[in-house]
Amino acid sequence: MSEPPSDIPAKTSRRAPAPQPPEPGLNIVSTPIGNLRDITLRALDALAGADRILAEDTRVAWKLMDAYGISAKVQPYHDHNGAKMRPEILQALADGERVVLISDAGTPLISDPGYKLVREVISAGYAVRSLPGPSALLAGLAASGLPSDAFFFAGFLPPRTGSRKNRLQELAVIPGTLIFYESGPRLAACLADIAFVLGDRDAVVARELTKKFEEYRRGTTSELAAYYAGGGAPRGEITLLIGPGDAGGNVQMDVDAELTALIPGLGVKGAAAKVAQATGLSKRDLYARAQALKEGGV
Ligand code: SAM
Repeated sequence: MSEPPSDIPAKTSRRAPAPQPPEPGLNIVSTPIGNLRDITLRALDALAGADRILAEDTRVAWKLMDAYGISAKVQPYHDHNGAKMRPEILQALADGERVVLISDAGTPLISDPGYKLVREVISAGYAVRSLPGPSALLAGLAASGLPSDAFFFAGFLPPRTGSRKNRLQELAVIPGTLIFYESGPRLAACLADIAFVLGDRDAVVARELTKKFEEYRRGTTSELAAYYAGGGAPRGEITLLIGPGDAGGNVQMDVDAELTALIPGLGVKGAAAKVAQATGLSKRDLYARAQALKEGGV
């Protein structure tokens, strides 16, 4: 995270709402994605008034709380201790506690822990509410210049190229902007696969949003793939946005058409192998697809 903020005004005007301590139940609180000033007054009220704060990483939580002079009971809650923690959290909710969930950055549950907890708290009948704030996907989308009326957030793509291309093929038909989270070291390979599977589309690499070295690099998928193939891995955190294609369904249709054309001559296995060679898609998945096409199931 960047520079600690200066003091926030205690009271801004007579009409400003009074501080609001969190209500009993599970309060999902968004925190900054870089710039520590990007936190709502209500989020600060919630942190200060919580009976317990569940944090993905307690050190990151303390950094934020120290910056605002807040102290509270902080416990770790992440993928590795979630199953053990959830019964304790449900008991705390049964006792009427005001529980706050935060992640290291942005909105909890968005490529971050919390989903299972929210499900269990809802099933157990306790209140769950969101205290909204930053999220890299919305920050990136808003300034990307790509269509914002319809979008699909797909989180992190698979790390291996075969599975990544398969996933991209599934996403090719979505009629909206696609949003991914990605790491610097994987960006070039990921853009190459995107250009290959989705074709040339408008795209934006949004890097280090809200921070000192914030950058929006705009271009087509193939321009950006070539740009990042040339240099070292970009530093910092990356949100990748891909504009909608003119004919998003083409990739899937082409693969199906290709398999259908090849099956009579080569058989299911041969057709799958040939299309795998031509597209880089997984042979196993193409085999299953070819089999389904042959049996008339699709
Ligand atoms: N919960 C967070 C949110 O609401 O955005 C996302 C958590 S996810 C584990 C972290 C990923 O989000 C990073 O690897 C990066 O892809 C993206 N991200 C987070 N902060 C970012 C920033 N300041 N600029 C660009 N992307 C960011």
